[in-house]
Amino acid sequence: MTTDHLKRIVVKVGTTTLTHKTGKTNIKHMGELVKVLSDLMNAGVEVALVTSGAIGVGVGKLGLKSRPTDTAGKQAAATVGQCELMFMYDKMFSEYGHIVGQLLITREDVEDPVRCSNLINSFNKLFEFGALPIINENDSVAVEEIVYGDNDSLSAIVARLIGADALVILTDIDGLYDRNPGEPGAQLVREVEEIDAHIEAMAGGAGSSLGTGGMETKIHAAKIATEAGIDTYIINGSPIENLYELMEGRHTGTRFKAVKR
Ligand code: GLU
Repeated sequence: MTTDHLKRIVVKVGTTTLTHKTGKTNIKHMGELVKVLSDLMNAGVEVALVTSGAIGVGVGKLGLKSRPTDTAGKQAAATVGQCELMFMYDKMFSEYGHIVGQLLITREDVEDPVRCSNLINSFNKLFEFGALPIINENDSVAVEEIVYGDNDSLSAIVARLIGADALVILTDIDGLYDRNPGEPGAQLVREVEEIDAHIEAMAGGAGSSLGTGGMETKIHAAKIATEAGIDTYIINGSPIENLYELMEGRHTGTRFKAVKR
């Protein structure tokens, strides 16, 4: 495994990867992700995992028919789902001898200089301890005015805060397509030099029923990260071995090149 150029990475995983349509956790996907991330850590890579799924898993665990539309409903579901998610991550990572720490963040934590510096200190200590930071938005307190709202943006902010060498957004399609990937002739875009209006226009469309992100929020995230000098990759999380390919310099999805200053 060649990991020399990627010493610290942020990996973002979404609700659709972590849950079945029923809202129950997708144990297979989660287990595969944990195994590969553990292996990367064993190879000396510092990994931070930005995970969605709190609301989705909460919906499943509470047996709700669909994702609540009101803020309090989403917040309550998130409190239930977040516990379950961390329980699963803790259990699965510990099978490979890895320790996880939970960071729940709101926009205010990042925008307030004192809170932000505390946050960065926590990240750095966790890396020093050899532990894996697992991050989600603090959904149970983040009301509409203060939310990032999607974990794609949050993952880019985290990548910037911890000075990551790369941001990897795992999703359920191969990357950015030049038009709706369902249309005949749609081509995967392998490299993006600059995120301009043309690239943004390729990314139209909404999210899934349990998560919130679509390609639009991923492009927005790529913009934040690349402008902070961080290469960003959107790759298919299935098979998860795509992550190994990426670490070996042969990415299978779309690479957004870091803006050089
Ligand atoms: N923080 C939300 C959750 O864990 C997810 C936001 C997103 O889907 O991007 O449910």
